[in-house]
Amino acid sequence: MAEKRDYYEVLGVERGASESVIKNSFRSLARKFHPDKNPGDDEAEAKFKEIQEAYAILSNPQERKKYDTYGHDRPGGSPFGSRGFQGVDISFDDLFGGGFESIFSQFFGGSTNNSTRGSDLLIRHTVPFQASMDGMEDEIEIEVMKNCSKCNGSGSKEKGGSRTCPSCDGRGRIDQISMVGPFRQRVRTECSSCRGSGRIVTDPCSKCKGDGRAHQPIKVKFTVNPGVMNGTRLRMRGQGESSSTLNGETGDLYIEIDVEPHPWFERDGPDLLMALPLSYADLVLGTVVEIPHIDHEILKIKVPSGSLPGETISVHGRGLPSNRGISRRGSVTAVLKLEIPKKLSRSMKNKIKQIRDEMDKELPSLEDRISNDAKSRRRN
Ligand SMILES: [Zn+2]
Ligand SMILES: [Zn+2]
Repeated sequence: MAEKRDYYEVLGVERGASESVIKNSFRSLARKFHPDKNPGDDEAEAKFKEIQEAYAILSNPQERKKYDTYGHDRPGGSPFGSRGFQGVDISFDDLFGGGFESIFSQFFGGSTNNSTRGSDLLIRHTVPFQASMDGMEDEIEIEVMKNCSKCNGSGSKEKGGSRTCPSCDGRGRIDQISMVGPFRQRVRTECSSCRGSGRIVTDPCSKCKGDGRAHQPIKVKFTVNPGVMNGTRLRMRGQGESSSTLNGETGDLYIEIDVEPHPWFERDGPDLLMALPLSYADLVLGTVVEIPHIDHEILKIKVPSGSLPGETISVHGRGLPSNRGISRRGSVTAVLKLEIPKKLSRSMKNKIKQIRDEMDKELPSLEDRISNDAKSRRRN
């Protein structure tokens, strides 16, 4: 992999750039390299991820400070965990509003400055390997702190079970006038006594005990795109916790996808790697193997005669789709191995002995073989 680029360079900003300069630069680069704008363009996709990572760090004051001090080699390893930055699913719409800010704020457990916003939630969800080929519609059921279903978040048993809040006189908010230098500034906050409703519960709801919120099971449906990778995060806007105040914004739910391992494939992005253990006869004579494949068609691997263990055979276009369900697919690479039977019958042993004798006549002398091999090694 190429040397990791400097985050400031990635975003094209000066080291001392202000938050808003960084944000604007990110926004315009993200629009330019967004996968929706560049379907099938792997380079743009890599760029998009690189920009995201740089922005995740530089938009967070603490992380930015650490980066300024240590660069990429900070003590404690990657701030994104052992697997490094995995990228986030930002819709193109988010890049017009401020929708992307809250996506990044959750990386390091920070919060947006809107303190009444409900918490964001992160859950991990495992999908079968086949989902990385076909994509899938999935559904989870989780318990989330939501406005109580019994009282609709009011907290009272019946409609009249509350009285005007004395702290805010029923306005639901409190205005504070404070002096900032020579200026008078009005700060408006939601009343904490009544959670912004202007009412105090006198006869609390039996389900939420007057709190207005309760843990409730919710079903979340979502789409997993073909090409999904381990660690991909799906963002479900407004599916997180309800705000502790009545009018506050609901948090988001992030679903982090774990892809189950395949019985024989190792994965490198859209490319698949497998070992193909063959008998000596198959390697010498060549063969065509046919294996059931993840794309529901038979995968044919043609092994040429005279193949050696350790050689590889690639079948292009039969790997996984690249991320985001783009029609281009990776390759399958098979590494040839030699498999020797553990047990031999007497007749098989005799036949092999016979083959050995015949073969020895075809091969150069042992000494020549040894020196030929040494020569070819030195050439390489
Ligand atoms: Zn309730
Ligand atoms: Zn109040």
